Amino acid sequence: SGDPYSDLSKGVLRYRTVEEVLTPLEDCFMLDASTVLDFGVLASIMQSGHTRIPVYEEERSNIVDMLYLKDLAFVDPEDCTPLSTITRFYNHPLHFVFNDTKLDAVLEEFKRGKSHLAIVQKVNNEGEGDPFYEVLGLITLEDVIEEVIKSE
Ligand code: ATP
Ligand code: ATP
Repeated sequence: SGDPYSDLSKGVLRYRTVEEVLTPLEDCFMLDASTVLDFGVLASIMQSGHTRIPVYEEERSNIVDMLYLKDLAFVDPEDCTPLSTITRFYNHPLHFVFNDTKLDAVLEEFKRGKSHLAIVQKVNNEGEGDPFYEVLGLITLEDVIEEVIKSE
C-alpha cells in the first residue's frame, strides 16, 4: 500500500516494547503545576529543548497536564503568569500506554491520535496492597523511529 508506516511495523517494532525505549520518569523534564512562569522558569523550559512538558501535582508520578512550547507564545515573563492558567486554557489531552505495549501498536496509536507523545504506565501489583497504576516515563514517536533506524 502507499502507507509508509506499514513496512516498518513488520520488522523490529513487533518485538520491542514501550518499556524498552521509554525515557524514564527521573530523566523527564517536567514542571510542578504550581509553577509561576517567570523569566527563570521560561529560560529553563527553552533550555530543556523539549516541545512537550508534562505537568505534575504533588509528585512527579502524578502527571495532570501537558504544556506545549507553543502555548507560551503569548506569555510575557513580566506578568509572572501561573502555569495553571496556561494549562487550563489549552487543556491538551493526556495519552497513556501500558509498559508492555509493542512498538508497532504504539506507532498505530501515534498515527491515529494528534499527539506524538504518550505517558507510560504499568499495573503495579507487587506489594501487599491493591494494584495501582505506576508511571514509568514517557515515549514519543522519535523513540519508536529510533528503533527502526538502529535496526537497519
Ligand atoms: P522535538 O519535539 O523538538 O523534536 P523533543 O525532545 O521535545 O524534541 P522528541 O523529538 O519527540 O521531542 O523526543 C526526543 C527524545 O526526548 C525522546 O527520547 C523523548 O522520549 C525525549 N523527551 C521528550 N520530551 C521530554 C521531556 N519533557 N523530558 C525528557 N525527555 C523528553
Ligand atoms: P508540529 O511541530 O506541531 O508537529 P508542524 O506542522 O510544525 O507540527 P510536522 O508535524 O513535522 O510539523 O509536519 C506536519 C506537516 O506540515 C508536514 O507535511 C510538513 O512538511 C508540514 N509543515 C511543517 N512546517 C510547515 C510550514 N512552515 N509551512 C507549511 N507546511 C509545513
